[in-house]
Amino acid sequence: MAATAYNRCIFFLVDGAREDVMRRMIETGELPSLRRYILDRGDYRKAVTSFPSTTGPAHVPFLTGCTPGSCNLPGIRWFDRSQPEGLTHYRQARSYVGPGGLYIDSDLRDGIHTIFEYFERPAGVFSLVNKGLGLFENRTLLTRNWYLYYAHLSGRWQVMDDAAWRYIDRAVDQAVDFLSVVFPAVDEYSHYNDPFSDATLEAYRAFDRGFGRLAERLQRLNRLDDTLFVVSSDHGLTATHTHFELWSFLDEIGFNTLYYPRILRSGCDAATMVSGNGMAHIYFKMGETWEERPTYDEIRTLRQTDPIEALLEQEAVDLVAATREDAVIVCGRRGTSEIREIPGGIAYRVLEGKDPFGYGGMPAEASDEQMLSATFDTEYPDAPYQLLRVFGSPRSGDLIVSARNGYDLRFRHEHPEHKSTHGSLHRDHMHVPLMMNSDIAAECVRTVDVFPAMLNLTGRTVRGTIDGRDSVTAATRAVA
Ligand SMILES: [Zn+2]
Repeated sequence: MAATAYNRCIFFLVDGAREDVMRRMIETGELPSLRRYILDRGDYRKAVTSFPSTTGPAHVPFLTGCTPGSCNLPGIRWFDRSQPEGLTHYRQARSYVGPGGLYIDSDLRDGIHTIFEYFERPAGVFSLVNKGLGLFENRTLLTRNWYLYYAHLSGRWQVMDDAAWRYIDRAVDQAVDFLSVVFPAVDEYSHYNDPFSDATLEAYRAFDRGFGRLAERLQRLNRLDDTLFVVSSDHGLTATHTHFELWSFLDEIGFNTLYYPRILRSGCDAATMVSGNGMAHIYFKMGETWEERPTYDEIRTLRQTDPIEALLEQEAVDLVAATREDAVIVCGRRGTSEIREIPGGIAYRVLEGKDPFGYGGMPAEASDEQMLSATFDTEYPDAPYQLLRVFGSPRSGDLIVSARNGYDLRFRHEHPEHKSTHGSLHRDHMHVPLMMNSDIAAECVRTVDVFPAMLNLTGRTVRGTIDGRDSVTAATRAVA
């Protein structure tokens, strides 16, 4: 438990903020309010988000202390093989893009507590997860979809970020003790322009200006010093030059594939659920029902064409993973490796060729923390831990595809065209900034660790078992 207890916490999620961009803008003095009110009093870290590195699932760790896999929200779209098939696959498929977003709270695995449940006067602004908030505490319950629709049609995403600051002011006036706010502009300007475009960079600067006004206001109210600020992001983004239509490729190699928005297709024997759009779950029907998840070896012999080999021949595909008994098998062009959960940590070994992640000198067995440290500054930070967690979800695909940078996995049904991508295991999507006006003890932090830190720093105790560890207020991470 930290020495300082804060009376309230405001969590700012700058959706899609790239770690390197935010760090450089701080260093060059373009984000002066964040420097003055957060970094001069606290710390900055490069952190690792949760896989899939996508809006929605990657928001959940901050608010629950659990990874998307443990929350049973393994993607922004997923397929549930435990649901009955019916005439169409409508009941088995879920997308949180659009009105399906309303289901996130009820889709959370039973027993998951949100941070809102720990506070007396919590509030959320543009939050995707709202479990634990009353009707009036979800400040944008009625307006979020209106704003999304307006911003989508007009392309003026800054309007949503500007509105967020007005909601925050009102919440502060009403003495909230926990406030979670999502700022969508950086993510959206990146998708429709480029992660480094003028419009995108201006959205970072606008965030800083809004933050400065809020901090000054809290100072006038004499509430600045006892307010904990946490600023972070759910994923980075990379520019996209080529779209790879994953569902049509699966159809070409002999499957009849279900995908969004065509979820009323009947008689399918495969489903692809894309997130971000650099990650996809693929599900295969084995025999008459969807009940059983085929293993790595079964997937390879489902049809004449081995889908794993065929996918790896595609430029757009970087890595493919599936399960074999209690292990995750990862295949890349370099080779194949195996990840296994063991008591106290993770076992990792290369099975064929070279390490598919390009890791060198990996420990054969290590704690989750040592795995994080060992992989933190590689091309695929924390991939062994993250893959184990996501495959732990009953709604996870049988096959997970991680796209190569520059490519995404969805084309025809994305309007306007996406010019940036996230969702993959690559560091450009997995590294995110983390800032707090409080010391951050550990060098290597997962975003899932922010939840227990926010609770501890406001004098609360975590209930039940979570994935996160409070590496923020106490250096519990061992070094590999
Ligand atoms: Zn996002």
